[in-house]
Amino acid sequence: MPLAPLDLPAPDADWSAYVGEEVGRCLDQARAVVAQLTDGTSRTAAEVLELWNDGDIALGRASGVAGLLAQVHPEVEVRTRSEDAAAELAKFATERALDRGLYDVLAAVDPSGLDATAARLLTLTLRDFRRAGVDRDEATRARLVAISDRQTLLGQDFSRTIRDDVRSIRIAPARLAGLPQDFIDAHPVGPDGLVTITTDYPDVIPFRTFARDAAARRDLTCAFLDRAWPKNDPILHELLALRAEQARLLGYSDWPDFDAEVKMIGEGAAIAEFIDKIADLAQSPAERELEPLLARARRDMPGLEQLTAADHTYYIEMVRREDYDVDAQEVRAYFDFAKVRAGLLEVTGRLFGVTYAERSSARVWHREVTAYDVLRGAEVVGRFYLDLHPREGKFKHAAQFTLAPGVDGRMLPEGALVCNFPTGLMPHSDVVTLFHEFGHLLHHVLGGRQRWVRFSGVATEWDFVEAPSQMLEEWAWDPAILRTFATNAAGEPIPADLVARMVRAKEFGKGLQARTQMFYAAVSYYLHRDNPPDHTEVVAALQHRYDLIARLPGTHFQASFGHLDGYSSAYYTYMWSLVIAKDLFSAFDRADLLAPEVAARYRDAILAPGGSKDAAELVEDFLGRPYCFDTFGAWLAS
Ligand SMILES: [Zn+2]
Repeated sequence: MPLAPLDLPAPDADWSAYVGEEVGRCLDQARAVVAQLTDGTSRTAAEVLELWNDGDIALGRASGVAGLLAQVHPEVEVRTRSEDAAAELAKFATERALDRGLYDVLAAVDPSGLDATAARLLTLTLRDFRRAGVDRDEATRARLVAISDRQTLLGQDFSRTIRDDVRSIRIAPARLAGLPQDFIDAHPVGPDGLVTITTDYPDVIPFRTFARDAAARRDLTCAFLDRAWPKNDPILHELLALRAEQARLLGYSDWPDFDAEVKMIGEGAAIAEFIDKIADLAQSPAERELEPLLARARRDMPGLEQLTAADHTYYIEMVRREDYDVDAQEVRAYFDFAKVRAGLLEVTGRLFGVTYAERSSARVWHREVTAYDVLRGAEVVGRFYLDLHPREGKFKHAAQFTLAPGVDGRMLPEGALVCNFPTGLMPHSDVVTLFHEFGHLLHHVLGGRQRWVRFSGVATEWDFVEAPSQMLEEWAWDPAILRTFATNAAGEPIPADLVARMVRAKEFGKGLQARTQMFYAAVSYYLHRDNPPDHTEVVAALQHRYDLIARLPGTHFQASFGHLDGYSSAYYTYMWSLVIAKDLFSAFDRADLLAPEVAARYRDAILAPGGSKDAAELVEDFLGRPYCFDTFGAWLAS
C-alpha cells in the first residue's frame, strides 16, 4: 500500500489541539516502547532494534511536527504550543537516553546475527547512551537531565529573541537613492515624511547592497548586527556555561571535544587546525581582493582607513558592477520568483530522475504554502512544502525542516523549505539559496527510504550535511541550466556572457568570504572552548584575527548569531562541507550538468544511503577515492 503523508488540519482548524494530540500520541508510543523493552522478556538483537526503531519513529514524527510549526505557524499560540511540545519531546529523549535499565537491555544483546547497518545502529545507539551519561552515577545523571532541560529552553529563548527582535531605521525618502524602484515603491512614505527600513532580510539585503547613503547603511547595519542585544547576552552566557559543565561531567575536556566526537572532524583541536588551514589558504586571495574594494570606497570616502560590514556588501556589488560588468539589477530582471521555482523543479527533477506534482488540495498552515508530491515513475516517494515568503512571526532565515523522517514501508519522508524570498524579482543570491536549501530537501526525501529512522535522509554527520546542498548551488551558476528558466519580462533567456561575468564576479570576494567564515567558525569554537566572561571582547579579537572586514564598534554580533544554538561549536562545518562539495562536484561534467549517469550515481551513492554509512565512506564510494582538499585549494587560489 502506498504511504500517505501526514494528515494536517484544515487551515482554520485548531492547530494547537492538533500539535497536542499528535505529540501526545507519539510520546505515548515512545513510552510504551521503553516499557516493553524493559519488561524482562528475552529478545534477539533484531527484535530489540525493531522496537527501538518504533520508538524513534514516534519521536521523529512528533519532533518534526512540533519543530516546524514552532517556526512557521501564523498564530503565536500555535508556535508557543509547538515550542512547549518540542521541549517536552527533548525532555523525554533526555530521560530515555539516561535510562540505565534500558541501556542495559541494549548493551546486553548479542550483535552477531545483525547485518552491517543494524550493527551500526546498535553501535551508534550505545554510543549515544554513553554520551548522554547513562553510565555515570545517579547524582551526575540527575544533573545532566537538569542541564539538558535548561539548555533546550535557553536555546529556544535565544532563537526567539532573534526572531522577534526586528529593528528599523526611519529615514527621509531621498536616502533611498540607489535602491531599485520596486523596493522604493514597496516602502511608502509615512505621515511623518519618513520611510521605515527594517532589519528583516528582504529589507536589509537590498539596502546594504544598493543604498548610496553611507550613514544610512551604517545605521541599518549596526541595527542588524545588534539584534537581540542585550537580551541574549545572559542567555548565551548561561548556555555556554551549561555546555561546558555537561562536557566536563561526561569526561571531555571541553564542549568542542564532546561535540566533535560524532562528526567527521573527530576532535575539538582539529577544528582550530582546520580554521587556521583555511585562513592561511585564503590569506593572499583575500588581501588581493581587499585592495580594489578599498580603493573604490576611498573615491567616495577619501581617507577611509578600513572597510566595515556597513560598506563591504555595497562595494563588493560596486566593484562587481564596474570591474566585472555585472549589475545586480540587470541580473535580477531574469529571476522572476515563479519562473525560478518552476525551473528549480524542472532541473532537479531531470537531474535526479523524479517528478513533482503540485497538490493544491493538500492542507497547509498558511495560504502561501504549496504542497508537492515527489514521484519516481508513478510512485510517490515523498512530499514537501514550499513556504518561501516572509511574514510576521515566521522563521527569518532559509532552511529545510524535516516534517516527517522517511522509513521504508512505514513513513513517507516529508520536509518543508522555509525561506524569506520576495514574491517578484529575486536577487540571484536568493536563487542560489533556493537551490542550496532544495539540496537539503532532496537529501531528506531521496535518503528517506531507510529501514532505521536513525539513518533517514539528512541524518549523516553534521559536518557532511551541507555538502549536497552546497554542491547543488553550482547548478544555479551554470549558463545552460539558467537558460532553461531565467528569462526576463520579454521572455529572453539570460545571456551566457552575462552568466560568465556573474561567475567571475562571484569568484571575486571568495577569499574575503572564506576569512569571514573562519571568523564565524572561530567565534563558535572559541566561545565554546573557553566560555569567556566577556563575549564581546573575544569576538572583537577574533574578528581582528580572521576577518579582513573591520568590526563596527559598539555592535554585538554574537547576540544574533543564531547558529550558536543549533551548531554550537561546529560552525566550521559549512566550510568543511564546502571542501567536500567541491571534491564531489569534480566528478560532474561541467559542460553537461544534466548528464544522467553521474547524477544517478551521485543520487544512489551519496543521497539515498542517508546516514547508513560514515560520510567519508559514502564520498569514497562515489569518487572511487577518499576526499581531499585539492579541488578546494585550487578553486580558492584561482
Ligand atoms: Zn544548508
